[in-house]
Parts: sequence; structure tokens; C-alpha cells
Amino acid sequence: MSMPQQLVEGLRRFRRESFPRFREHYQRLVAEGQRPSTLFLGCADSRLVPDLPTSTLPGDLFVIRNVGNLVPPFEPDAGFHGTAAGIEFATLVLGVKDIVVCGHSHCGANRALFTPLRGERAQHDQVVGARPARRRRFRDDGGEPSADRDEVARAAA
Ligand SMILES: [Zn+2]
Repeated sequence: MSMPQQLVEGLRRFRRESFPRFREHYQRLVAEGQRPSTLFLGCADSRLVPDLPTSTLPGDLFVIRNVGNLVPPFEPDAGFHGTAAGIEFATLVLGVKDIVVCGHSHCGANRALFTPLRGERAQHDQVVGARPARRRRFRDDGGEPSADRDEVARAAA
């Protein structure tokens, strides 16, 4: 079964088996709107599914996922700032009380912060917006590390 077919079958199974158990919960979320208490910012890694390890239900978390669970710096321009827009919506419109930035083990994006970048990997550095954190880790020439792991972790957060 191809992945698109698997997704369609998964949706059918959800409608048949899971949705009936949560029908009232979903109806309440539709009628009252979402009021999540927490913004969960996690990595886009396919192995991370926030609702599973946190045992949360639909409506509990406002979830933003990007490569490396990075919070970009504020940039007041006309660019496409999806993560920043999500944070703004969650805090100003939804009024979340807590913000959780959740990293995970074996994260390829954060591993890249600890690896000198060359060629195509330099593009990855720009995509994830990790350039400031990376600069703290490596000299401009991609040489030896200039900071310890804790410092990089703080810069990436
Ligand atoms: Zn990751």
C-alpha cells in the first residue's frame, strides 16, 4: 500500500474507530473554539508526535513544528515567518499560559549545529535559521569548535 493510500485508509479507520470515542470532545472544541493552555514548539522530525509522549488530547496543545525546534529572532519585515506568526497567534490571540520548546534525541538539525558546514549543508544552516547559534559553535572558516555544547544549546534555544 502506498503512503497516500495508507493515509486515506488511516483516515477511514479514524472515522470508524477513534472519532466516535471523542465525538463529544470534538463537538465541544468546534462549538467553543480552541483554548489550549500551552504552545508546544517541537521538531518536524517524523519520529516526534507531540500528543503521544505528552498524553494530550486535541485542543490541549497549540503545536508549531519546524526543523530543529528553533525559535527564530524577531524580524519586522515582509518575509514569511511562519514560526514567529504561530508564536504571535498563540500568545496574543489564544492567550497560552506556557510555552514549551521541546528538543529530542537524535535530532539531525541540532546535530548539524555541532558539525562544520560545507557546500549544501551551508544552505541547511540558513534554512533552519540557526546561523547565530552555529557561529558561536564554529569559527567562520568552519574550523574547530569555539564554544562548549552547553553554550550552543543555550544559543539554539
Ligand atoms: Zn529534530
